[in-house]
Amino acid sequence: MDYTKLPVFAEAEVVVCGGGTAGAFAAKAAADMGRDVLIVEQFGSLGGTATNGLVLPIMHTHIPQNPQCSYISNIVRDKMIALGAASANGANFDPLVLKAVLEGMCDEAGVKILLHTFIAETVVNDGKLEAIVVANKNGLGIIKGKMFIDATGDGDICVRAGAGYTKGNPETGKNQPISLRYMVSNVDIDALGMFIKELMEKSGKNSGASYDADGSVYVACCAGDKWTFSDVFDEAIANGDLTEDDKAYWQGFMVTGRKHTLAFNNPEFFDETDGTDPTHLTKTQIAGKQRILRQLQFYKKYLKGFENAYVSDIAAMVGIRESRNIETEYVLSASDLLRRVKFDDMFCQSNYPVDIHGKVLHCENIKEPVDDGKPWYEIPYRSLVVKGFDNLFITGRCLGAEFLAQSSLRVQHSCRASGEAAGIASAIALDKGILPREVDGKEVRGIMIEKGAHFVL
Ligand SMILES: Cc1cc2nc3c(=O)[nH]c(=O)nc-3n(C[C@H](O)[C@H](O)[C@H](O)COP(=O)(O)OP(=O)(O)OC[C@H]3O[C@@H](n4cnc5c(N)ncnc54)[C@H](O)[C@@H]3O)c2cc1C
Repeated sequence: MDYTKLPVFAEAEVVVCGGGTAGAFAAKAAADMGRDVLIVEQFGSLGGTATNGLVLPIMHTHIPQNPQCSYISNIVRDKMIALGAASANGANFDPLVLKAVLEGMCDEAGVKILLHTFIAETVVNDGKLEAIVVANKNGLGIIKGKMFIDATGDGDICVRAGAGYTKGNPETGKNQPISLRYMVSNVDIDALGMFIKELMEKSGKNSGASYDADGSVYVACCAGDKWTFSDVFDEAIANGDLTEDDKAYWQGFMVTGRKHTLAFNNPEFFDETDGTDPTHLTKTQIAGKQRILRQLQFYKKYLKGFENAYVSDIAAMVGIRESRNIETEYVLSASDLLRRVKFDDMFCQSNYPVDIHGKVLHCENIKEPVDDGKPWYEIPYRSLVVKGFDNLFITGRCLGAEFLAQSSLRVQHSCRASGEAAGIASAIALDKGILPREVDGKEVRGIMIEKGAHFVL
C-alpha cells in the first residue's frame, strides 16, 4: 500500500511517538528549545507506565546524591508537591495527578497533544523517516515530521521503519515477566502495621516488611521462606486460596496523596511475557484481574487491616519491564554497566542494580560492580541515536542497551532523562541542520544542566 496517498492528519518539526514516561519529557524538552512539537499517544492520557501502568515510586539511583539528570523532573516534582500528590523528593506520587500535571506541562510548553491515536506503520525514504501512519476515529492517515522520537517503550516506530533490535534474555530468548498493577484502598494501615510486628515476633523473620514510626508500611514476599509473610502465603497456598505464582512476587507500597491506600507491584506473569504480542497483553490483562480479586480475598482472610478494603484501581496498561531494544550508534553493554564505564557524551548517571525478575527472583545484585571511586554507570547520548537513520531517536526502556544493562536502566529516572536528552538533541539537529549522530552529546548535557538538571560532576 502506498501510505503517502493517505490524508495528512498533522505535521510538526518534532514528532514524539508515544506519550509515556520518556515521551512527555521529550516533547516538553523539544518545545522548550523553541520547536514545533506534536506528541501522539494511543491511550487517553500522558504518562504511560508511570500513570496508566500505575507504576510508582521512582526508584532511587543508588547514588548518594540521587541525581535525577533531568530539569523537567524538578518541575514535575515541584508541581506534584504543590498539589499534595508527591513525597518531598518527588519519588512517591499519585499516578492520576501525574497525568494532569504532564498534560498541563506539555500544553503550557506549546506541545500539540494527539491522544487516542495508534501508530501502526512508517514511511521511510533512504534512511529518513518521512511520516508515521496512524489509525484513529478518522480512519488511517499520516503524520509528517522532520525529526521523530520513538518513545513507545517497545521501539514500535524503529521496528516498523526497519531498524535492528534485540529482544529478551539472550540465554532463554524470554522477556522479563509482565505485571498488572493495582491499588487497594480503605486499608487500616496501623492494624496492618501491628500485624507485621506480630508476624515478625512469631516467625523471627524480618525480610520484606516494615512498619515505621511515621506510620508507613511496606510489604513484600517472594519464593523461599525467609520473608516475614512466607508462612502466611504458604498456608494460603496449602488451603488452595493462592497459587505459587501469587507468592513468587508480591510487593506493596503506600501512595503519597492517597490515604489508606497500597499500590501492589503484582500479580506477575512468568509465561506470557512478550509485550509486543497482543495475545500475551490480552491474556495478562484478563487473567490479571482475576488474580487481583483472588489476592484481595486473601488479604481479607489471612491479613489484618483489610476488613473493609476494596480494589480502587487496576492498571489500564499491563506493565512491560522489557521487550525490544533498538540498535543504536552505541549499544550499552552489560560489561559497560558492571564496570561502571564513563562516557564523554553521557546524559544519565545511575547505580540502580541489575534487576532481572523470574520464577526465582534475583533480589540482590547478580554481580558486584567494579568500584572506581565513582559508584555509578553512565548512559551515552549515542544510545539514543538509531543506527542507519538520519532523523530518528529512541528513548525510554527500549534505548540501545543489552538485556542485562536494560534491567537496570529501565527505571523511571533514566527513561525521563533519555526523553529529555532526545528532545534537546532533536532541536539542536534542526537548529544546526545536522544529523542526530552528528550532535555533540556534551552540548546536550550542557543544556540539561543549564536548565537545572543535576549530575554528579
Ligand atoms: C511492573 C513494573 C514495575 C516497575 N517498577 C518500577 C518502579 O518501582 N520504579 C521505577 O522507577 N521504575 C519501575 N519500572 C520501570 C519503569 O516504570 C518503566 O520502564 C518506564 O516507565 C518505561 O518508560 P517508557 O517511556 O520507556 O515507556 P512508557 O512509559 O510505557 O511509555 C510508552 C508510551 O507509548 C505509548 N505507545 C506505545 N506504543 C504505541 C503506539 N504504537 N502508538 C501510540 N502510542 C504508543 C504507550 O501507550 C505509552 O504511553 C517498572 C516497570 C514495570 C512494568
